[in-house]
Amino acid sequence: MIIVFKPHAEEKDVKRVLDKVEKLGLQTHISQGENTLVVGLVGDTTRVDPKRIEVEESVDRIMKVSEPYKLANRMFHPEDTVIDVSGVKVGGEHLTLIAGPCSVESEDQVLQIARDIKKSGADMLRGGAYKPRTSPYSFQGMGSQALDYLWEAKKETGLPIVSELMAEKHIDEFNEKVDLVQIGARNMQNFDLLKEVGERIQKPVLLKRGLSNTYEEWLMSAEYIMAHGNPNVILCERGIRTFESYTRNTLDLQAIPVLKRLTHLPIIIDPSHAGGKWWLVEPMAKASVAAGCDGVMVEVHNDPESALCDGPQSLKPDRFDSLAKELRTLKELV
Ligand code: PEP
Ligand code: MN
Repeated sequence: MIIVFKPHAEEKDVKRVLDKVEKLGLQTHISQGENTLVVGLVGDTTRVDPKRIEVEESVDRIMKVSEPYKLANRMFHPEDTVIDVSGVKVGGEHLTLIAGPCSVESEDQVLQIARDIKKSGADMLRGGAYKPRTSPYSFQGMGSQALDYLWEAKKETGLPIVSELMAEKHIDEFNEKVDLVQIGARNMQNFDLLKEVGERIQKPVLLKRGLSNTYEEWLMSAEYIMAHGNPNVILCERGIRTFESYTRNTLDLQAIPVLKRLTHLPIIIDPSHAGGKWWLVEPMAKASVAAGCDGVMVEVHNDPESALCDGPQSLKPDRFDSLAKELRTLKELV
């Protein structure tokens, strides 16, 4: 349920209304726009008699939110949410470029890539430390050591770090060393992990869409994190499973305008895991910016032919360099 206050409603009148609903055991989430104040109510809204709220002088109208996601709902927060990732703004007018290897493989590798992407104007450095691999015999990531190498790369370049959290036991380490905590596609519906992330992760979260999940399921996962205490969620579309097998996944570009309508959270596109081929990254990244995404996350490797993970979909640094420039220009046009 949402209360929309009249423009220029007086603070004391607003407070009286909020006290009324809070006494009923409901939580209030305030969103102050340029002219209007919107307050979302979360909890057992059957306790609220809308007539008792509507009679208030300061209230313009009351709306029911029929969708099961409330905090993530655009109705709760009509303006775009802008999330601060260690000084880098995501959402609103910004175009955020995240780049880096699928997995950290050595200190040298990650430092070299970090220097290159920094020169190209990337905003953040990505790098997997703990990897969700289909096969138990594949490279599983360097774990804690990878986070230390990323930390070194951040010290030198100033780029905030994005890395995937796979298990609750690593939460403290991620709070210490990672700036944007990724929840990967395979864990999008790991509800126990989402609850822990909401309660204990103090950094913003990049929530990837599951392999075969609907928009509503994805937004409900964002809702889990938000309802458990972390409001700073960025969504990431990374391709979905379809009948097509030529590409690794199918990039769902429609997710951008649909999510812009349904939610106030920023949306980032990962064209690398979508297509699975490096030459698809450039056209799909451009299409994503044209469609209004808030950022792009791209896998970049200095030696993709020998990469331990996802080499075929990784751009070399010089290609990322030209892509980054084109995307910035395109953003201006859009
Ligand atoms: C990744 O970003 O390296 C990754 C494993 O992504 P996804 O969860 O989208 O497969
Ligand atoms: Mn990868």
